[in-house]
Amino acid sequence: MKVIASHNGLVAAQRAFERMKAGVAPLDAVVEGVEIIEDDAEETTVGYGGIPNEEGVVELDAAVMDGKTHRGAGVAALQRVRHPSQVARLLMEQTNRVLLVGEGALKFARANGFVEENLLTEHARQVWLHWKRTRSQIDDWRAPLPESVDPKVKKWFDVHFRGPAGHGKIGTIHVSALSPSGDLACCTSTSGHAFKLPGRVGDSPILGAGLYADNDVGSCGSIGHGEANLENVTSFAAIELLRSGRSPQEAGLEMLRRIATKTRPDQLDAHGRPKFNLWLYVLAKDGTHAGVTMHGPKQYALAEEKGARLEKCVALYE
Ligand code: ASP
Repeated sequence: MKVIASHNGLVAAQRAFERMKAGVAPLDAVVEGVEIIEDDAEETTVGYGGIPNEEGVVELDAAVMDGKTHRGAGVAALQRVRHPSQVARLLMEQTNRVLLVGEGALKFARANGFVEENLLTEHARQVWLHWKRTRSQIDDWRAPLPESVDPKVKKWFDVHFRGPAGHGKIGTIHVSALSPSGDLACCTSTSGHAFKLPGRVGDSPILGAGLYADNDVGSCGSIGHGEANLENVTSFAAIELLRSGRSPQEAGLEMLRRIATKTRPDQLDAHGRPKFNLWLYVLAKDGTHAGVTMHGPKQYALAEEKGARLEKCVALYE
């Protein structure tokens, strides 16, 4: 029995592990783990408290996949519901559909009794407003005086926009689980890129891109620059590499290498490396696992019988 998760998912991995130990199916366990992060207002890349789109509206993407039944589903650009992963699981369980977006996803959630609420926290609104006021010199929005900027807002930009363009403005939670009976399941949930175009959908709710589970082979999920992941269908491809005998680390690094070689020139830095980052979390049927990152350092979460801890990701570029 094992659970792996993105760096921000230690408590989620722990919860999923405990739930599986109590006999809960791996799909329910990963969704329960993700729920903790979706509820966390301090986690500004997932669920309640996520950073909004360019119009100040929080839009969430999530998907689930169950290895045992080989079924999965996702919801995208969902507003006003803080647990998109639960909506995705219901879509999978109660319909024959695999993807719902926007208003349709909200109507489905509403029909199933999900509570609607304003997901934009005061902190997220301040971050968005700061971005709006500082991004252009030629609109009506005046930049704030530096001393008037809330230190928490300043810190958010320091953490999320450090380094070359695109390296930091990411987040998302992924959890993959292997049950005592050898079944696999996974879930990915996100508020997507900060200040994205309204309606923009990333990799997270797309089966094969933001997550994929095959009960015969393994489970994989990703966080990071979703467009690069969508163009390379990375989670599916990593599982196919596992099937052909690669280890989780080899499969993950090979996918990052492929993405790097296909990256368009304007997204490469002076050394010819992608400016953006992407992480893959790979869990094989035999319990071996790896977290890989385009640029180091970063960690991933692991929960197993010995306890839960953060492990080092292997970087394609140190
Ligand atoms: N992959 C997510 C997306 O592109 C964002 C992220 O992981 O940072 O929407």
